[in-house]
Amino acid sequence: MPHQQSSLPLRNRHYDAVIVGSGPNGLAAATVIARTGRTVLVIEGAETIGGGMRSAELTLPGFIHDVCAAILPLTASSPYLNTLPLSSYGLSWIEPPIALAHPLDDGSAALLLRSVNETAKGLGCDAEAYRRLMKPIAADWSKLVPAILGPLRLPRHPIALARFGLYAIRSAAGLVKSLFKGERARALFAGIAAHSMLPLERPPSAAFGLLLGAAAHAVGWPLARGGTQKLADAMVEYLRSLSGEIITGFFVQSIEQLPAASAILCDITPRQLLRMAGKSLPEDYARRMAYYYRYGPGVFKVDWALDGPIPWRAAEVRPRRYGPCRRHLRGRLQQPSERAVWQGEHPRHPFVLLAQQSLFDETRRPYRETHGLGLLPLCQAAQASI
Ligand SMILES: Cc1cc2nc3c(=O)[nH]c(=O)nc-3n(C[C@H](O)[C@H](O)[C@H](O)COP(=O)(O)OP(=O)(O)OC[C@H]3O[C@@H](n4cnc5c(N)ncnc54)[C@H](O)[C@@H]3O)c2cc1C
Repeated sequence: MPHQQSSLPLRNRHYDAVIVGSGPNGLAAATVIARTGRTVLVIEGAETIGGGMRSAELTLPGFIHDVCAAILPLTASSPYLNTLPLSSYGLSWIEPPIALAHPLDDGSAALLLRSVNETAKGLGCDAEAYRRLMKPIAADWSKLVPAILGPLRLPRHPIALARFGLYAIRSAAGLVKSLFKGERARALFAGIAAHSMLPLERPPSAAFGLLLGAAAHAVGWPLARGGTQKLADAMVEYLRSLSGEIITGFFVQSIEQLPAASAILCDITPRQLLRMAGKSLPEDYARRMAYYYRYGPGVFKVDWALDGPIPWRAAEVRPRRYGPCRRHLRGRLQQPSERAVWQGEHPRHPFVLLAQQSLFDETRRPYRETHGLGLLPLCQAAQASI
């Protein structure tokens, strides 16, 4: 249990905005406000900053694992984050040449590459259908992203959005069955769509397959050199350069504990907000929030420090500098794993995502001195989310 401060050191100050939670959303909001010259304080309950952007030595010394977010296509696509000078504060991207490999039972793998054409070539009979689906979405990426990731407002590019929406509104299972004939394209798309954590027969699970698939073609599936923590650290340093303030290790139990502020922003879940501020919210709003908000299915994550390469069967998946960073180990259209999770059951064959960032980022693994040979990588770090 981290040490918790009992009272806030800045209790007597007044801020234009106080933000509870230092995840990507909390820090992004803080920079928006600080950029206008207003005073901002971010309060984080954990000892380290960043929420889902944290990285840490979770296994052995020298192995840097991402605690949650690892592969960041939506960060790299974010119209707002792209306006921040994060590279000046230590953020650099690594783009593995293969975004994703989806191993198949025949010992081969379907690959998601930066190029739509190259990806399509690996999908056999569905090459043309994949090209027709993905090419326009990837080409329209910069027009689509503000509408998809931004707040609801009248779209600036309604035709591009309507073209995306016609497919996105469907279930992943319905979309792939109507567009693809072969297992390779179906499995690849279904695997990407499973990031939705929705049953694949449920709309709009196709949206996640299209969004993350097109992002791979438009901006790649990059990772942050040194760990996703570097993204959080860069946002924090930028915020500090704008005179924003941050306190860590103070878990807010009640909004009464906060310093006076013109606005309070909460980067927390609705249930956490109810616990913290339920009495200050309009009764009907609080009641509806308690009734309608449900936590989604959980994720089980395993981190490994490996003393050798993973013995993959599919040659395309084997560890090498030009291989994929992320692999789908389970998750087929016909495997009802996401449906079982949705119904509160344990699936026999859960959808498994495996990422091995240390293949591409030498700062994430320990090195050992060898006699006359310089530094050699000791081994690799890997993580799987199930
Ligand atoms: C295992 C896993 C893997 C993931 N992989 C990816 C990925 O590869 N790519 C990707 O884009 N996304 C990934 N995600 C999702 C991503 O991490 C989240 O979407 C993102 O972190 C949400 O950001 P947020 O700012 O909304 O909240 P969070 O990041 O959850 O931040 C909320 C913060 O608020 C703090 N807090 C909560 N209550 C209080 C309180 N009362 N007082 C003070 N502080 C408080 C918490 O400690 C936390 O730091 C993954 C998530 C998980 C769990």
